[in-house]
Amino acid sequence: MAIQTTEPVVAEYNKNDEEEKKIILREYRALLKSLKESLKKGDKALLRHAFEIAVEAHRDMRRKSGEPYILHPLAVARIVVEEIGLGVNSAICALLHDTVEDTEITLEDIGREFNPYIAKIIDGLTKISNVVDIKADTTIQAENFRKILLTLADDPRVILIKLADRLHNMRTLESMSRDKQLKISSETTYIYSPLAHRLGLYEIKSEMEDLALKYTQPDVYQEIAQGLKETKRERSRYINEFIKPIKEELAGNGFDFEIYGRPKAIHSILNKMKKKQVTFEEVYDLFAIRVILKSPLDKEKEDCWKVYSIVTNFYHPSTERLRDWISVPKGNGYEALHTTVMGPGGKWVEVQIRTDRMNEIAEKGLAAHWKYKEGAPSAQESKLDSFLKHLRDILNNPDTDTIDFIQDFKLDLFTEEIYIYTPKGDMRVLPKGATALDFAFDIHTQLGMRCIGAKVNHKLVPLSYHLNSGDQVEVITSSKQNPSEDWLSFLITAKAKSRVKNYLKDDKRKIAEDGKEVLKKKLEQMNVTMSQHNLSELVHFYKKTSTLDLFYAIAVGSVDLKDVNDLSIYGDKFLHTKEVKLDIKNADESNIKTRGKGAEVIIFGERSDKVLYKLAQCCQPIPGDDVFGFVTSGEGLKVHRTDCPNAAQLLANYGHRIVKTKWAKNKEISFLTGVRIIGLDDVGVIQKITNVISGELKLNMRSLSIDSKDGIFEGNIMVYVHDREELNNFCNKLGALEGISKIERIEHIEP
Ligand code: MN
Repeated sequence: MAIQTTEPVVAEYNKNDEEEKKIILREYRALLKSLKESLKKGDKALLRHAFEIAVEAHRDMRRKSGEPYILHPLAVARIVVEEIGLGVNSAICALLHDTVEDTEITLEDIGREFNPYIAKIIDGLTKISNVVDIKADTTIQAENFRKILLTLADDPRVILIKLADRLHNMRTLESMSRDKQLKISSETTYIYSPLAHRLGLYEIKSEMEDLALKYTQPDVYQEIAQGLKETKRERSRYINEFIKPIKEELAGNGFDFEIYGRPKAIHSILNKMKKKQVTFEEVYDLFAIRVILKSPLDKEKEDCWKVYSIVTNFYHPSTERLRDWISVPKGNGYEALHTTVMGPGGKWVEVQIRTDRMNEIAEKGLAAHWKYKEGAPSAQESKLDSFLKHLRDILNNPDTDTIDFIQDFKLDLFTEEIYIYTPKGDMRVLPKGATALDFAFDIHTQLGMRCIGAKVNHKLVPLSYHLNSGDQVEVITSSKQNPSEDWLSFLITAKAKSRVKNYLKDDKRKIAEDGKEVLKKKLEQMNVTMSQHNLSELVHFYKKTSTLDLFYAIAVGSVDLKDVNDLSIYGDKFLHTKEVKLDIKNADESNIKTRGKGAEVIIFGERSDKVLYKLAQCCQPIPGDDVFGFVTSGEGLKVHRTDCPNAAQLLANYGHRIVKTKWAKNKEISFLTGVRIIGLDDVGVIQKITNVISGELKLNMRSLSIDSKDGIFEGNIMVYVHDREELNNFCNKLGALEGISKIERIEHIEP
């Protein structure tokens, strides 16, 4: 696969100045057209003004692809209007979104030319654009994520425009360098697509994830895309057969509707394949049928259920798979009726029933919500508002540890929801898996801090009790109660966790004060001042992460202060202890069997330096795999597969530590890898397998374990191979054996 950057062919583009102008104007007119109906008096002039400013500001800039830069803000503006459904002010912001960051234009200019609201949104966009900057270290990046969330709570339009910006960058990622592609894709799956999901922008979320997959795992992506293409006809035939009777019946009942089937997104097919451990052939026919009704607001619920009744007259529904998000919408505002029915040929088919209005919310999420705010009953939109309030609430706490917080918050973003009732019958939405204590914190921080137990449906339960949808919960408190460390082991909401962590930190701070005093006395004895320099030397010496940690460790006696005497002193200063160097001597030999000499098989960066490295235990890459290098603290370079389960998190959070890595040709060294096989039990099977391994292919096998139950066996084989080609060959040979039904590479190897 080609991973080289294609240099922009700028000269060629310049020749076609007139042609370019035409393209730019065409895009502008298209934007104007999609705004048409919503434009009020004066809007058009304002939009044009923004367009002209942007054209002028980006005049000499080009994108990596060679295109004039202005096409990017224009495309973002069109996404903002056409795909998210925002209005003219947001379009203006989108046109200007990169001007303050990248050109001479200042925020004051914008405030003067337009209005303070627009300047404020641009300001927000400029602030969060730094996130993409890879130079920042971990804490700064986490801090930036936090900024994103803060602006979200402040004015969600900033995030919506940012999402449009990111979506367009993903759509045009082709011309970026390989490491930028990886970095941007990972960041997208790590933070932007969960946000899009949380805001109800399903289409955008889905496209982002497919695009990210396309760049992080191109082979897998192409394989599924190709498969979908090849099976399209067969799928359409089935969908038509399924739809036909429903269509007739709905029309006969006077419904104004649309019905269609659509295949699942590529990333969700891949997730299914992984989760259920099945092949593409077993899931490719997954699709959902959508019925979209035109129905007046007061008839919506009734009409949707009528449709449900018609569908289930033809096809038998699965009782477990009925979801009524009309009576109780999801936290991100999603409303619809979902059912899964038994279609022709004994196949389960999901049917989604919604009205026009609900459909717009499903596609445009938050933005559509605003639009309907006037008309809809207040209970409907209050959920998003309360999500934003909740967000503001946690973010307002300056003490929260950002990295931790982002992790917890991401869990909040993605999990399913349960609905819990207070004793008075008010409903609260919590993530699935929430405990009685999470509920207490959700109601009020003080209630959580003092919580000693709860009554769930009138029965007494402990703090850690896992709630189920529909539970009614009464919190029991005591003024003597205080949060403790073990609460963190069962709390799952970000809010509760951050409150408890802060409390514990305060507690720790108080204890640390004592440690600080002790250290001060010790240093006085040694005639050394407690300067910032000396403190950071000590933090380093005792391998602590902060002075707070150091003071605390001294206070509780977990470090020995006598060791300080080992440090060399010059004047008033501790001398720096040994530099922590890339610990390349310890490169893990255990999973590399060297036949020749030298273990340098990877070339890093552009300069073909030969560097020692470790192969990550979590994904055990072998030559031929798509990989990247990661500079660990203290353990040198680690090489991960780009489809490693940890990859997204590493790439998104520690961009500055990523080293472009590729395999050098080397047939001297073999690598440990694992394969799982499933098949029909047969006495001769082990014999056959070992024949292939050591007889035919002459591979070095480390272990073979077979479990057999009810006539089916499952086995794990660990072998040493030289590269991916050899592994593929090995899998093909095994696959050809009689009785073996499935072979797959072990994704995640437990150390
Ligand atoms: Mn941009």
